[in-house]
Amino acid sequence: MFRKEALTIVNEAELECKKVFDSLDEICLQNQKKVLDAFRECGLQLADISSSTGYGNDDRARVKLSEIYSKIFGGETGIVSPLITSGTHALTIALFGILRPGDMMFSITGKPYDTLLDVVFGEGIGSLKDFKVNYEDVELVDNDFDYKQIQNFIEKNKPRMVYIQRSRGYSTRDSLSIEKIGKVIDFVKTINPKTIVMVDNCYGEFVELKEPCDVGADVMVGSLIKNAGAGIAPTGAYIVGSNYAIEQISSRFIAPSIGLEVGSYAGSYTPFFQGCFLAPHTVCGALKGNILLGRVAEKFNIKSFPAFGEMPHDLVRSFEFGDAEKLIEFCRMVQSLSPVDSMVVPYPWDMPGYNNQIIMASGSFVQGSSIELSADGPIREPYICYFQGGLTYEHIKIVAIEFATKYLN
Ligand SMILES: *Cc1c(COP(=O)(O)O)cnc(C)c1O
Repeated sequence: MFRKEALTIVNEAELECKKVFDSLDEICLQNQKKVLDAFRECGLQLADISSSTGYGNDDRARVKLSEIYSKIFGGETGIVSPLITSGTHALTIALFGILRPGDMMFSITGKPYDTLLDVVFGEGIGSLKDFKVNYEDVELVDNDFDYKQIQNFIEKNKPRMVYIQRSRGYSTRDSLSIEKIGKVIDFVKTINPKTIVMVDNCYGEFVELKEPCDVGADVMVGSLIKNAGAGIAPTGAYIVGSNYAIEQISSRFIAPSIGLEVGSYAGSYTPFFQGCFLAPHTVCGALKGNILLGRVAEKFNIKSFPAFGEMPHDLVRSFEFGDAEKLIEFCRMVQSLSPVDSMVVPYPWDMPGYNNQIIMASGSFVQGSSIELSADGPIREPYICYFQGGLTYEHIKIVAIEFATKYLN
């Protein structure tokens, strides 16, 4: 069983987290209500949840699923599909759906997530650059938007798209609160109302009460094997937004003028609806576990972000180990405490789409799912590990106890 001293430390930490946990429970309750209301308003019937084949013209599950997610995320309409493989795939479809040759994509959160770099800048591989789409960015300053530079740039260049990444990816900045995102969107729209604002919402869903489309984003994109699918959806991603934006994007996703009329899935849609319904609760449990683990690590003098007492803005916690060995050890511990592949020992490797060696721990039911317990980090100074997910709070608490046990030795 658990070592007593370790359990005591973790239980103590848990008590210290009570205030933050209560706030998260309140958010969870309201988000669950929002999700339930969306299911009811869409009048989902059991007969709607059936699979389809071929063109899928009569696929009611596809239509209902998109309706439900669009409502929950504050969009007018959306694409939610098992045919989209990943967040990167969905972001790519959305970018190519909106942007035309000669247009400008202007990122106001610095460079986009690692896997998008080739999508934007790649040479001779069908990137945005190959299609003569221009790109510029401006970095955040002190974890907030650089309003002055944004204003100057938009006035001068009238970019077609302003791009925002809510979560921080493999960088050291904070994730952005919905409040900050809403404020900058108002600002952008005041300067040029025609600018399309797109938000990479990966890891952000259900962490706060609102989502980017609630505060003015034209398009928001995320993966169903992260927050939005609760670990139940077996694959897929969503793109939600305004009627105009989604029409443009659906032409790219399927074909111009066919748009969202087709799309079939012969597998079961049941886990997509279940995942959607469970997502607020699963995200809440993962956030609480993540905060608990951060508090326990602090007790052993390991720096962790977000800082204790702060409300999270995404699912990810980082631990600064300052030492490659400790980072590797931590990932191996996470792997060994996974329900699947617990016997696997992760090693750093050259992962496609990334520029440093990466170590990844993931023993998930759905391959690569990071709403499930997972940890990863690039092998470079200051050896930061990004930790996220966990299908139940208790699972992460077990990780925290094991962590304390190791560090007590
Ligand atoms: C995970 C992630 C992506 C890419 O999603 P995949 O599903 O891994 O392709 C994009 N942006 C951010 C911020 C992410 O966390």
